Amino acid sequence: MKSAIYPGTFDPMTYGHLDIIKRAANIFDELVVAVLDNKDKTPLFSVDERVNILKEATKDLNNVKIESFGGLLIDYCMSKKIYVVVRGLRAVTDFEYELQMSQMNRKLSNHKVDTIFLNTSLKYSYLSSSSVKQIAQFNGDLSAFVPDYVAERLRMRFGHNNKE
Ligand code: ADP
Repeated sequence: MKSAIYPGTFDPMTYGHLDIIKRAANIFDELVVAVLDNKDKTPLFSVDERVNILKEATKDLNNVKIESFGGLLIDYCMSKKIYVVVRGLRAVTDFEYELQMSQMNRKLSNHKVDTIFLNTSLKYSYLSSSSVKQIAQFNGDLSAFVPDYVAERLRMRFGHNNKE
């Protein structure tokens, strides 16, 4: 069985992430989406919230599992015996950082862990979690970027929801 790990912060998951998840799930027998619990960053959503959003979004995808991890990605890969990492590439601006990370991970894993890149669907090429958060902060329309339940959580987080 060929498995892969798609790691990220997913703060929050967007349609761009979901597009990569669906496409990677078509290529691999099993895809583990791994939410990074990074103590150095202060994400808007807790790990549990980010995991739950991803679980809701992928509930119909039978070969997709959602987990969280801390520490080094390659240690997590080794512990799961999964040696392929999937990352999404939006624009050239992503390239340099992603290339560096993938080479570093290959080196650290003694050439065991390889990274494959899926280029973004054009309609999501401008989409990032940070821009979604900025729009949410000013109560903008998020319907093209994230599912309704994510938009709802963002509105609550920024105090734009009367139902809170
Ligand atoms: P990280 O902090 O690890 O970069 P992100 O949650 O921002 O985590 O992104 C996780 C992965 O998803 C990265 O490989 C990123 O390039 C990719 N990604 C983010 N947004 C998009 C998008 N709109 N289209 C395709 N890939 C994306």
